Amino acid sequence: MKLRHKSQLLIIISSLLVVAVFAATSIISYHRYSLNALQRQAQMGAEMIRLTVTHEMTEGQAEHKNPYIENLKNIPGLVGGVVVPAKSVIDQYEIDMSVRTQVTEMEKRVLATGEEQSELISGDRVRYTYSIPYIAINENNMNCMACHVGNEGDVIGVVSLEMDVTQQFYEAIRDTVGISLLFLLFAGGLAFALRRFLNPIEHATEELNHTVSLAEEGDFSGRMIKRSSDEIGEIAERTNHFMGVLDNSIGSITKDLDTLTGHRQIAERENLLHTTVSVVHTMAMVSQFKQIIENDRTLEDVYSRFQQLLEQQLHFSRYSFYEVSNSNNRLNAVFTGGLPEDMDLWCKKDVILNCDFCRAKRTAMITNSHDAENICPSFAGRDTENGLYHLCLPMMLSGSVGGVLQVVYSEEEKAMVMSELPVLQSFMDEAAPVIETKRLMKSLRESSLRDPMTNLYNRRFLEEHLETVTSGVLRRNSTIGILMCDLDHFKHVNDTYGHDVGDDVLKGACEIMRKTLREADLLIRFGGEEFLALLIDADEEGGMISGERIRKAMEEHSFKTPKGPLTKTMSLGYAIYPNDNDDFWECAKLADIALYQAKDTGRNQVVRYQKGMASEE
Ligand code: GH3
Ligand code: MG
Ligand code: MG
Repeated sequence: MKLRHKSQLLIIISSLLVVAVFAATSIISYHRYSLNALQRQAQMGAEMIRLTVTHEMTEGQAEHKNPYIENLKNIPGLVGGVVVPAKSVIDQYEIDMSVRTQVTEMEKRVLATGEEQSELISGDRVRYTYSIPYIAINENNMNCMACHVGNEGDVIGVVSLEMDVTQQFYEAIRDTVGISLLFLLFAGGLAFALRRFLNPIEHATEELNHTVSLAEEGDFSGRMIKRSSDEIGEIAERTNHFMGVLDNSIGSITKDLDTLTGHRQIAERENLLHTTVSVVHTMAMVSQFKQIIENDRTLEDVYSRFQQLLEQQLHFSRYSFYEVSNSNNRLNAVFTGGLPEDMDLWCKKDVILNCDFCRAKRTAMITNSHDAENICPSFAGRDTENGLYHLCLPMMLSGSVGGVLQVVYSEEEKAMVMSELPVLQSFMDEAAPVIETKRLMKSLRESSLRDPMTNLYNRRFLEEHLETVTSGVLRRNSTIGILMCDLDHFKHVNDTYGHDVGDDVLKGACEIMRKTLREADLLIRFGGEEFLALLIDADEEGGMISGERIRKAMEEHSFKTPKGPLTKTMSLGYAIYPNDNDDFWECAKLADIALYQAKDTGRNQVVRYQKGMASEE
């Protein structure tokens, strides 16, 4: 129950109680006073009748009309008086009671008990009857015992008086109502005073309650009105000051954080406290994420952590991340999640081949199929059973779109995805520079491991990855065929056609070798016009066949030069790792020895390393 209602109830009950108690006490005392007065009046009349009758009886003048008794009629309201004889008198004087008025119950009680009785009878008129016992006396020359049988003190009759008190009765009611009205007026005044006193307390509690509940919802704009300068006024002042401090501090913190994150707009009725907590939490998460990925070694590690974030922290089950390859205008799917079995991407293949098919990449703007149903025709997820939506966020790297994150969601997940969008955007923004740096480092590293002219891996690449290449082969108990290849008389090309033609011939020769080798084989530019082909899982015979195929293809090829067609031959030395030597580099040297053997013995041939060649060398 509210304080206001409680106090109202209290005021009403206490006022009514005051009226009731005062009215009751005054009515009772007024009633008693009136009855007492009436009784005294009746008593006097009855006593006068008794004394007069006794006097007359003892004087023997009972037959005469007594002036005293006659005068009793003048008492206002007296209706009548009667003397009722007791049974002993009736019997003694043989009085005929049938001609007399009926003896009332009250009179019988007086006769029986010898005690006075009174009764108020209401009807059309209100009557008061009063009876006293008629006691036999022997005093002041009046001796009842002179005529009556019996003893002094016997009840020989009853003197009854009947009075009409209708007027007094209604006067009493009128006075009682008047008194009650007076008390009611007093109670009204009391209630009014109490209300005036309690009103500020009620207002203050209601306002305090309202202000605090607003604050609980994060709205610190609630204020109290200072109505007095007492403690209640002080509470209002302090509460207002406190709310002002909260409003300024937490409100501005949230706004600052929003400016920092740059994505959230505080909805008008959003809980400021919760918002602040959630923004701070998000910022902490984002900052921690950034620190972690900055310390990750490779770009792949960063991507895998990004995928983990999507699944574990943001709880997205369907997603993909594309990397934009600016050099060939393609999108490369880095990772995907939640794809149906018959699909390998959430988008049509077009986006892979031409990244301009991706709307988010092309416009550098967030693309959400919830805004417009067919917003990006490249999205394939809408054709799935549940007709999914997609949200694609471009990742900006140095001012252009370097990646696209796609979140695929159902109608039920829409609200969740939309609420996570600002968080996701924050993560993307923080991850972008890290991803950019890692991509740059990766491409720098790639370029340091490749020969820029032929785009073949270089000797450094082999040095770094040898362990990976050999360990797999050794685990499988397999072998690597090592072909050391060198163009014959290449110096002559440079000398005759110039260095540029020499370069073109070198590139052409690489192309021939690459085409001849299998996909799994590794071709490395080992020196100027010297190449190392690692034939994975090649045996004795297979390696020689591959070498021969290269030699033949080279011999048969005609290079175009400004001075006409040119043919070149190639010499190759072959060794097998780990059969010839369990140290890879030693083995490569043996292949080189075989190559020299080929050069020495006429060129344009493949020579298998034989034991003894080394000692010859
Ligand atoms: P051999 O049959 O004994 O191998 O004779 P060769 O002339 O091929 O051998 P040599 O080692 O004497 O000469 C290799 C030449 O290859 C020397 C160098 O000018 C040339 N060369 C090495 N790298 C490049 C390159 O990147 N471009 C061009 N144009 N020439 C290169
Ligand atoms: Mg050469
Ligand atoms: Mg050479």
